Amino acid sequence: MTHDLIIIGGGPAGLSAAIYGARARLKTLVVEKMYAGGQAAITDRIENYPGFVEGIGGMELTEAMKMQAERFGAKFVNGEAQRIIPKDDGFIVELKNEQLEAKSVILAMGAEARKLMVKGEKEFTGRGVSYCATCDGAFYTDRKVVVVGGGDSAIEEALYLTKFAESVTVVHRRNELRATKILQERAFSNEKIKFLWDSVVKEVKGQEAVEEIVIKNIKTGEITSYPTDGVFVAIGWEPNSNIVKGLVNLNERGYIITDENMATNVPGIFAAGDIREKSLRQVITAAADGAIAAVSAEKYIEER
Ligand code: NAP
Repeated sequence: MTHDLIIIGGGPAGLSAAIYGARARLKTLVVEKMYAGGQAAITDRIENYPGFVEGIGGMELTEAMKMQAERFGAKFVNGEAQRIIPKDDGFIVELKNEQLEAKSVILAMGAEARKLMVKGEKEFTGRGVSYCATCDGAFYTDRKVVVVGGGDSAIEEALYLTKFAESVTVVHRRNELRATKILQERAFSNEKIKFLWDSVVKEVKGQEAVEEIVIKNIKTGEITSYPTDGVFVAIGWEPNSNIVKGLVNLNERGYIITDENMATNVPGIFAAGDIREKSLRQVITAAADGAIAAVSAEKYIEER
């Protein structure tokens, strides 16, 4: 067997699992399709991860996690896992051009931004439609932008965008926000932020780039056109669990069901972080999951 432990996904859950796995002297490999750090790496500032009084940049935090894992001997490979095949003494993790083997696997593929699924959204992605204010906010200096959604992500994105944009309009499908009170207070007291309540986006329009969105008021049925230079979509997340459908148990929304030891229904396969059915998806809970999953994997390997 080439590896003891393969961790799929290099966000905070995977990185924390790699630190614990490698430190327990397991031959640990992290498979990551883009860059280590996951969603946390594109978060401008993380203010609620304990130990950083003034907060810390998401990239800075996750790069440190990666270096910490490497210091203990964890290895990283770039690639996208396509399939996991159980075999007698472990698992095969199939990448596009390569097959890897391990005694145990931790699924830490996280979740990705939910799409609006309206006309123009796909067409204008990268030309006015964005799912990441931290990545694209600076392009909208002195311009008008819209943020869709009413949760923590939407309000954090709206607040962040006020650093650049002339105005930020939050379009939300209800008349109250889901976001935590502290974020709500900051948004309501920020004069650059406006709200369009009870409203849904029906279409994104423009020539070369986004110029307007078509909005429907779901209470009155009224349809209006709203001029904007950018549309930031922040309406939640979908778990990246497609490759394990039919292998491990998922809930009705596609999140992996585990017990408190992060064990899935398949012995030897564990899950950690945002991909898992849980009540709080944060960097700290992802990191905690990763630690537990790695220790569970270590016990599983020892007891086999
Ligand atoms: P979320 O809490 O699920 O909120 C999604 C928002 O988008 C909701 O306001 C929802 O409306 C709206 N929405 C969903 N589908 C929609 C659709 N098809 N069209 C229009 N609107 C739609 O997602 P999130 O804000 O990304 O947060 C995810 C998790 O991460 C949460 O647990 C959150 O607390 C956490 N998080 C925490 C922080 C922080 O603590 N600083 C920052 C970011 C995220 P309804 O309200 O009507 O359902």
